[in-house]
Amino acid sequence: MLIRGFQPFSLIDYPGKISCIVFTGNCNLRCPYCHNPSLVFDPESQPEYPLPEFWDFLARRQGRLDGVVISGGEPTLQQGLAQFIAQIKGMGFMVKLDTNGTHPKTIEDIHQLCGIDYLAIDYKAPAEKYSSTVFSAPGMSAMVQESISYAVKNEIAMEIRTTVHRSLLSADDIRQMREELNEIGAGLWYLQQFNNTALDLLDESLTRQETYTDHELVMFAEQVGGQTFARGLNGTLLKHRSIVRGESQNQLQT
Ligand code: SF4
Repeated sequence: MLIRGFQPFSLIDYPGKISCIVFTGNCNLRCPYCHNPSLVFDPESQPEYPLPEFWDFLARRQGRLDGVVISGGEPTLQQGLAQFIAQIKGMGFMVKLDTNGTHPKTIEDIHQLCGIDYLAIDYKAPAEKYSSTVFSAPGMSAMVQESISYAVKNEIAMEIRTTVHRSLLSADDIRQMREELNEIGAGLWYLQQFNNTALDLLDESLTRQETYTDHELVMFAEQVGGQTFARGLNGTLLKHRSIVRGESQNQLQT
């Protein structure tokens, strides 16, 4: 288990919890909107955060932090992830795992070893264009669907997340994705706004292409129904009522 980045405090990354965030390197996908390609594709360029320092940090935060978010890169590529999570939970912290969902067996192993408190799984495109959207080998959508199904069947608290850019996903794609998620029993789904101010994108041309407004994301969420919501930048939940009051997009409230 190698930690390639560490954030000691967050109020927004673990719903309802005060957390710290562990970042891991490497990823098996190539999403055009990936906003940390150096961490993901050249992890050795990032200094390693020493594990003894991490355990010491956690020991000093017992009773002050609720949980640990494990994010990436793609954490399920890390050797020893299940044991790492079990050790964190053994110290009394809850764990949220952010994953692209392409390793369902790892998710199952972790859950069987120590339980998973909260899963955030990316669902990046409709099944038929999944692999072409994330520039991966074929078959990724089936793996992600298997991860989501496992979480549903085992009643693991979970949210599904999708970064939405006009050049990657159409309104029909979003409708199709909701249907696919419904078929496997997934509920909570966030359509996330693309951050066109990010400095270091895998495909920087995305920032020069028109994308959806916050208003359009909210309309998509309402049209596809179910537990679908729109999220703005910094995790802000976008709401239709704010829009119809005539507030600016930046003023949309949680
Ligand atoms: S799955 Fe996440 S970390 Fe991997 S390329 Fe896509 S956005 Fe980047």
